[in-house]
Parts: sequence; C-alpha cells; structure tokens
Amino acid sequence: MRHKIGKVDVHLVSYPITGGFADATRKVETIGFLLVRITTDQGLEGIGVTYHEVGGEATRELIVHNMAPKLIDRDPLQSEVIWQEFFHYLRGVGRKGLMYCALSAIDIALWDLKGKIAGLPVCTLLGGNATKVPVYASGGWTSYSDDELVDEMRGMVDRGFRTVKFKVGFDGGRNIRRDAVRVRKVREAVGPDIQILVDANNCFDAATAVQLANRIREYDIAYFEEPVFADDIPGLARFKKGTDIPLATGEHEYTKFGVRDLLVNEAADLVQVDGARAGGYTEMLKCAALTQAWNVKFAPHAMENVHLHLAAAVPNALFLERLLMFEEITGLVFKDAPKPLDGFMHVPNRPGLALDLDMDFVRDHDQA
Ligand SMILES: [Mg+2]
Repeated sequence: MRHKIGKVDVHLVSYPITGGFADATRKVETIGFLLVRITTDQGLEGIGVTYHEVGGEATRELIVHNMAPKLIDRDPLQSEVIWQEFFHYLRGVGRKGLMYCALSAIDIALWDLKGKIAGLPVCTLLGGNATKVPVYASGGWTSYSDDELVDEMRGMVDRGFRTVKFKVGFDGGRNIRRDAVRVRKVREAVGPDIQILVDANNCFDAATAVQLANRIREYDIAYFEEPVFADDIPGLARFKKGTDIPLATGEHEYTKFGVRDLLVNEAADLVQVDGARAGGYTEMLKCAALTQAWNVKFAPHAMENVHLHLAAAVPNALFLERLLMFEEITGLVFKDAPKPLDGFMHVPNRPGLALDLDMDFVRDHDQA
C-alpha cells in the first residue's frame, strides 16, 4: 500500500560558537540546523535538514504555517511533483534564500523517505555504486594567527585528510602580501603531496584576486574559491581569464538557474552548490547534470553527511567538504553520523540517507 504523509515536525537547533571563527567577510557567532521530520501514515520517517545560523526562525514559520499543510496526505514518492508545486507557490516571495532553505529541507526528507520506502540507500536509488567518497577538511579562518593556521592544517593531515582548505582574505581582504605568506607557510608545513584549496569568501575584486592568485601559484593551489562576491559573475569570469588556478564557486547559488548562469558565463571550474540551500536532492541532481554538460567538476558545499549519497552517485563529483567547525554539533544532532576515515566518507549501507537524529539532544536544544 502506498504511503501517505501524516505529520511534519520542525526543530531548530543551534549552538553558540566561542572563539574567533571569522573569514574575510563574516564572523560566525552561532551555527545550527533546522531539521524536518516527515512521518508517513505507516510510521516511516524521513529526515531533512537546512542551516540555522541566521533567520532559521523564519524558515521554520514558513514550513510550519505554509508548506507543511500542503504535504499532508501526499504521496512522498512524488518528490518532483511536490518540488514543482512549491517552486510556483514560493516564486513571488523568494527564488533564492530562506525560501529555498525551507524547500531543501523538505525535499531532503522526501528523498530519505523514498529510500526507506524502497528499502534502499539513496545512493542505490540514484544508480550509484560507490562505497566511499573522498572528503577534505575545511577551516583555517582568517582570524587565526599564522601558527594556529599551520597547526590546524597539520592536524588535518595527521587525521588522514589528503586535501585541506583554509581561508585567504587576511584583514578583510586588504593584505594579500600576508595571504601569500600564510599560503607559503601552509605549503611548507603540509609538504608537496597534500592538495591545498583556498577560500576568499567573496572578499576581493577581480583584479586583487588575480594578483593574489598569481602570487600563490607557485604553491600549487588546486582551487581558488569565491574570489569575488558570489553575484559578481563577470568578476568570476574575469578572474578565470587572469589565472590558471581553477575557480571554485557556487555555495551561495540557488537552483539550476543559478548554476546555469555560472556555466554560461564560464565563471566556474568547480561548482559547489549546497543541497541544503539550493533545493534539495531533486534540484542538486539537475545542477549536477548541468555541470556534466559543461564538463566541469561538482563538489557540494559542507553538509557532508547529507551530500554523501549524492556524491556517491554523481559521476563528476570530486569530493565532500567537512567543516571542522560543524564536527561537534553534527556528532551531537545525528546519531552514528559517518566519520571520515583516511580521507574518505563511507556510504552507510542502510535505507534512505541514514540521517538518524539523537532526539534527546534535539528536544533539549529545540528553540520552539
Ligand atoms: Mg566556502
């Protein structure tokens, strides 16, 4: 008998960050998750997630008051139909931003449910067979001293990561000479065999970013991420013309339309959309297909336990990102969340996305 959606629960969990986590353009004060649980009339539960750093309360209100009622009695297998309905329902109030965070969380929960109804891992539903996916460690804030930066990068390598990422844009992007020194120190500390990614978090104009790229080229940089403001697509294209360091971007892009704009403007070599923002698994599969058509790489931003099954099934997926800042809260919210081992995340061989919640922790920290 087909399942019908019976109940939608939303939880908002956040966690204060103490210490100096700041990138070139933003200080991180809290991190957290908005969690969606969609339960069927036969008792299966799908779990979806999006971010709650700023404004999760608004996302929750939107889901509880406007979206959840439209899900009741629906067939959870109809994820595409439901996505299209919400796309049109929400189009006048947001085609990027919190509206898509809400839709992403719902869509991820539906895909988790689809796997559970079929009794298969989502990776298998998508036609994939990878049992593990490379994962890189991500941190290295610009608020760190040089020694703190180098120590953290060395620690990542000691933990088995073969690719590490850290921030550039020292002093808000006003000191590329210092950025170049920090890149040199990290390269000297990790040795020649570790892949290095740098992330400017939108801080430069194209000319300055090209200048920095040319100064750090000798340190063998695999990707330079978000050199300019995410919406400065001409600036991204200009950056690409000025350096042969490949360009990564897309974590602030939403939907296939955002990815299309990056691709038609030749403004990315690695597309990093985030399924917890960009529209869930339904939309990420379309974003990935677009990157395949342009023959560029695909690597979802953060949320590695959510993206694991997607990356295991998408042929041009390069790796997952593990933000060290999120390790503690991810371990508290999700029971038995897969952990990196020797630079890989192993795909759980269980139905759905295997995102089991520690409901004691979630209820204790729910800001309802
Ligand atoms: Mg980034």
